[in-house]
Amino acid sequence: MKKLVLCFILALTFVFGAVCPQTATAAESINYNDYATYNWLEKFVTANPTRTTGTQGEATAALWLEQELQKMGYATETQTFEAPVGSVAGVMNSVANSKNVIAKNNYDNGKQTVIIGAHYDNASDLFNGGFVSGGEGAMDNGSGVAVVLSVAEKLSKQRAVLPFNVEFVFFGAEEMGMIGSNYYVSKLSQQQRDNILLMINADVVASGDNLYVWGEDKKTPQANYFAQISGGKINKTPANTKVIGVHSGYRPYYSVCQMSDHMEFLYAGIPVAAFFSGNFSSGFSYVENKGKDDISHTKNDTINYMKNNFGISFVNNMETVSNAIYYGVIQNADSFVVQVKDARKYIINDFWLDMGNALLILLVLMAGVGIFAYNYYKKLQKRAILGNADVKTSTVFEKPDDDDIFTFRS
Ligand SMILES: [Zn+2]
Repeated sequence: MKKLVLCFILALTFVFGAVCPQTATAAESINYNDYATYNWLEKFVTANPTRTTGTQGEATAALWLEQELQKMGYATETQTFEAPVGSVAGVMNSVANSKNVIAKNNYDNGKQTVIIGAHYDNASDLFNGGFVSGGEGAMDNGSGVAVVLSVAEKLSKQRAVLPFNVEFVFFGAEEMGMIGSNYYVSKLSQQQRDNILLMINADVVASGDNLYVWGEDKKTPQANYFAQISGGKINKTPANTKVIGVHSGYRPYYSVCQMSDHMEFLYAGIPVAAFFSGNFSSGFSYVENKGKDDISHTKNDTINYMKNNFGISFVNNMETVSNAIYYGVIQNADSFVVQVKDARKYIINDFWLDMGNALLILLVLMAGVGIFAYNYYKKLQKRAILGNADVKTSTVFEKPDDDDIFTFRS
């Protein structure tokens, strides 16, 4: 009997052991290199671990990106611009050169253009809370770079003739305040701005709990489209409750989008789709990750930290965004055009929300109240002199002239 029980236990152990392999065994069996986005992340970050604006590392990363895009068969261009940099902790007291790297697919001036972008600089040498941040910018924004490179690679192999131009843009100096994207947009003529069908941005698309796509602070066809094509793996951001709280110089309320390069395009009237990972844990309060909200701009922003804390999930996130862009934009190009052609109509007119305009409106209102109060004060002064006589003008009754006509009530 004892033997029977022992056999039974042994059999159970065997069955459960086979059905439910231990987590450690599962983790060991992950082959990260099966995934294109992971391979790009590893290649990019290993070759360019420090890429802070204006450093030699950023310049080397720009060159690296050019070379990889050329290997895929793209002609590349670069834009050089000046960006603020700091030599003292937290103080931007100098300028240095940074670059945008651009690759175009089958450019045809008669077609509209889709821009697919990610910033490639990082915050590894920036001061954060009195310390140099460190890390290798694997999530911010090695992940976005990896996604865009994976899409560029797939498109280069397909050599498809699409109904629109595709332009891949790797922005420099995002961490210094979207300097690269601001420069890129500043160089576009109005006609070129009008000709952009959609700007797609990928920034921080790895270790967050959830994936999001944002088009505006309201429902947009492009956010609906990408959420749907991802089969529900990518969420639309929660409804914006317009909570007042200055989030940026862009909008005087806390917006649910990640502040990144797409905002420079949106402010030039160009529709956008911004992909990012994170967690709107209590509706509106955003964290990168509920358990580990300590990655961006810290020493933890490394591939190893993500592997150790998130296993394969950060790679799944990058793959999901890469697939949404590739299948959504390139494989289904015709239905993509139909879905997003009216995206421009959904852009919020920010005139009344712009803080500069709001200040101007406030000043005009205050001036109006001031003038009214002054006139009322003068009227009261006259009443003090004239008693209950009808006051005809607001001129002070000191030196009477033709205007100072009044009649006494009967
Ligand atoms: Zn970023």
